[in-house]
Amino acid sequence: MSFKYPPDKDLRRLLRFEPDSGAIWLGDRRMVLMHTAALAALRQDLINSVGTEHARRILTRMGYASGLSDAEYAKKTRPGESVQDSFLVGPQLHMLEGAARVTPVKITFDIAAGLFNADFRCDDSWEAYAHRQKFGLVDEPSCWTLLGYASGYTSAFMGRLILYKETLCAACGADHCQIVGRPIEEWPDGEAHRVYFTDDSLMDKMEALQSQVEALKSTLEPVSLGGQLIGDSLGFRKAYTLMQKVAPTQATVLLTGETGVGKERFARALHELSNRADKPFVAVNCAALPAELIEAELFGVEKGAYTGAHAARAGRFERADGGTLLLDEVGEMPMAAQTKLLRVLQEGEIERVGGETTRKVNVRLVAATNVDLAQAVQAGRFRADLMYRLNVYPICIPPLRERKADIEPLAQAMLARFCALHGKRVMGIEERALQALRQHDWPGNVRELENLIERGVILATQAGMVEVEHLFPNQPDTAQTGLNANGQLVRLPSAQDDDLSTRILNSGSSLDEIEARVLDHAVARASGNLSEAARLLGLTRPQLAYRLKRQHASEADAPASKPAQE
Ligand SMILES: [Zn+2]
Repeated sequence: MSFKYPPDKDLRRLLRFEPDSGAIWLGDRRMVLMHTAALAALRQDLINSVGTEHARRILTRMGYASGLSDAEYAKKTRPGESVQDSFLVGPQLHMLEGAARVTPVKITFDIAAGLFNADFRCDDSWEAYAHRQKFGLVDEPSCWTLLGYASGYTSAFMGRLILYKETLCAACGADHCQIVGRPIEEWPDGEAHRVYFTDDSLMDKMEALQSQVEALKSTLEPVSLGGQLIGDSLGFRKAYTLMQKVAPTQATVLLTGETGVGKERFARALHELSNRADKPFVAVNCAALPAELIEAELFGVEKGAYTGAHAARAGRFERADGGTLLLDEVGEMPMAAQTKLLRVLQEGEIERVGGETTRKVNVRLVAATNVDLAQAVQAGRFRADLMYRLNVYPICIPPLRERKADIEPLAQAMLARFCALHGKRVMGIEERALQALRQHDWPGNVRELENLIERGVILATQAGMVEVEHLFPNQPDTAQTGLNANGQLVRLPSAQDDDLSTRILNSGSSLDEIEARVLDHAVARASGNLSEAARLLGLTRPQLAYRLKRQHASEADAPASKPAQE
């Protein structure tokens, strides 16, 4: 075959190995190297357990999904090239991924008119080889993921379902495979093949996503409300179960956990699950109020109680009557207020500041703190008797870094919420960005995640994805490894390297001058020790000596050149 592909440097550049983080990337998609022997065993298992027909369906869909994904790179990597070169991204990527050696025999297409007609020759299909190894020569062509890939890729590229069939297959004894693609309507038995693809059509998926966003928009509650809690992790479910059990009782609940873990959301959920749900939920942050105002805020004030008290005012206890009162950061409450709070809890009645009569209140108390109350008691900052009153039913909400399984569901829910809030259509979070979220330490917990996702939604392009740079814009480049032209792994230049090169180019110095300066610098840093200087430069000592000699010789040749040192 004399067919010649366009250079695939642009595609090889997409493939990055990050051994340190245990990931391989194709663009923004995470990949994995798998043994064909393991895949062959999986195929065999599938066929034996669900039957050939169903296994074929599953594997075709798997190939189809890969083809769909790779079709994105056709648009991204060769936007200015001819449509034909842009289409060839598919077969070239499929080769890079190791599926088979693909040679176009014939390709004619017209996207606008919806015309497509192509034949490809596939040599050394891994799948034909795997099938033959497990089942020997068979009658039916067996390169199902290969066909699925071709269909997925071409359908996404053409915007209509293109069905491929295998007319020759190495699993049947041919010396290579041959696949033929046409719009599904043009195959006489095309409809019978639709079962493999219809559910995965790109158009259906887009429509489903769109209606999902619309549905989320219409069912959204106000952003400030806690609403239902989200979490899958063991730690979260444990805390949630404790909360569910205590909700219908009247017991005082103490929520503990680091700042930002979502204590207020838990308190709201507790209120909504209790039989007080139709009565008020009132929250007060004890750390946010000045000490001299906190008693008036909590218990209310009578007219003229102090300068500035022009009218009588009900406190939070009275406003929460019949409902739930959340005392957030209760550990920060001043001693005097603690004494008064204790009395209210004992008597079930309050007395306004400057007042003489008492009022009965029926309030379910939830206290929250990020400090260790027992320690605060030890330090003399918290009343022990009050701590025992509050600590009837403690629920500890673990920090986000201890419940990594919650990160993704939380992030997805926040994404939907902020898209609606900012009127933006964002299709999702890139896998690479999700991985960065899972690896982050989350000192600010759920609140920090919320801030990050909101920023990501704002920075993402309309109808695009949230990418890792949108979430962590100042992250240093991790060392990355890619493929050179010989297919060997080499370190890729980072942004810092690019910076350095730019600075060198802007300096106006020649390469010889730069080399001279770097050599001198290394020798100076090694205090004149040439072996040490050579080590710094990654050279052998003779190589360094040779270069130094060459530099000095060229300086002698050009006595008028500018001095090496500034
Ligand atoms: Zn085949």
